[in-house]
Amino acid sequence: MAGGKVTSPTGTAPDRYVYYPGTEELGADEIRVIACGTGMPTARRAQAAAAFVVELGNGDKFIVDIGSGSMVNIQSLMIPANFLTKIFLTHLHTDHWGDLVSIWAGGWTSGRTVPLEVWGPSGAGEDMGTKYAVEHLLKAYNWDYITRAKEIAVRPGEINVHEFDYRGLNEVVYEENGVTFRSWPCIHAGDGPISYALEWNGYKVVFGGDTAPNIWYPEYAKCADLAIHECWMTADQMMSKYNQPAQLALRINLTFHTSAQSFGQIMSMAQPRHAVAYHFFNDDDTRYAIYEAVRENYKGPLSMATDMMMWNITRDAVTERMAVSPDHAWDVAGPSEHLEPDPDRDPVYTQFILDGRLDVDEANAHWVQEFMARNGLTAEDLGLGG
Ligand SMILES: [Zn+2]
Ligand SMILES: [Zn+2]
Repeated sequence: MAGGKVTSPTGTAPDRYVYYPGTEELGADEIRVIACGTGMPTARRAQAAAAFVVELGNGDKFIVDIGSGSMVNIQSLMIPANFLTKIFLTHLHTDHWGDLVSIWAGGWTSGRTVPLEVWGPSGAGEDMGTKYAVEHLLKAYNWDYITRAKEIAVRPGEINVHEFDYRGLNEVVYEENGVTFRSWPCIHAGDGPISYALEWNGYKVVFGGDTAPNIWYPEYAKCADLAIHECWMTADQMMSKYNQPAQLALRINLTFHTSAQSFGQIMSMAQPRHAVAYHFFNDDDTRYAIYEAVRENYKGPLSMATDMMMWNITRDAVTERMAVSPDHAWDVAGPSEHLEPDPDRDPVYTQFILDGRLDVDEANAHWVQEFMARNGLTAEDLGLGG
């Protein structure tokens, strides 16, 4: 064709097959799920431990599991801290709740004004349940709690625990604003671990807790729109790359986790619109053997999850993409009040430490006076020494 001059466009591309957080409106009848941790207890830069962020078209947001290292990925979504307060734990292994302290303290310092709300299962004994775990976590972090409560504010440091019976079979553990969470047991190293199904607007998203294959998952995850379930590395990979002895590599695949072949069988029974395999190190030299093992028993739609993989769920389709988010994410301010520190808190300084303050008044005077005048602050607001 002669003469036609093709001009290189300078506008925006219509569809880039990636998700940039904060740039897409969520449809009123749509769900967005973002994997913020998909790996192992030994969290690595490429993959943190288990965490999923769920956003619903009605505005509700939830975190399901918050494993070690996952907070950096959650943070990169730039969702204001006040909107990420509802956390559902499948069980109390660190790779599923190790970063609860990170969101607790991180949100506290960056504008969250309300307590965290944590849902999680009971255990065989009182000392094996979520309530015990969170209460003692707060005791372990007492210094952190006391000092932030004194300097920042009290309320964001509170954690309200909603513990439920791990033995419930598809029982409702949360019901609010048209959203239901149900739970059922897992078989994983001892009583306590559970799986969740989130139901909203006729959709069902299932978050499988760590488990050996159990009879409940295929039944209660039946025909879910998105069915997430652990899928283990092969026994050979557990030996050659994860340094495990043969007996453990075998037992881990069969007695307290789920082999890739078992994952395939479970999904062919559950028949979800889309299956998600996770909880393995997803590398070029691991994923294909795991994938082929899944395919021995399951031919349906499948994602081999890695961190920042995300899914849009609509009536028409379940779409997998990758989220692309900044390494330098700041906290984004939501609608929030400015809280005051508690004036009645005991001083956490002794006079011995206070006497160690270096006099830097002169070095700072020029900006401090200007800043205080501009923001209407008085010497009392500075509160030095108390
Ligand atoms: Zn576990
Ligand atoms: Zn785990």
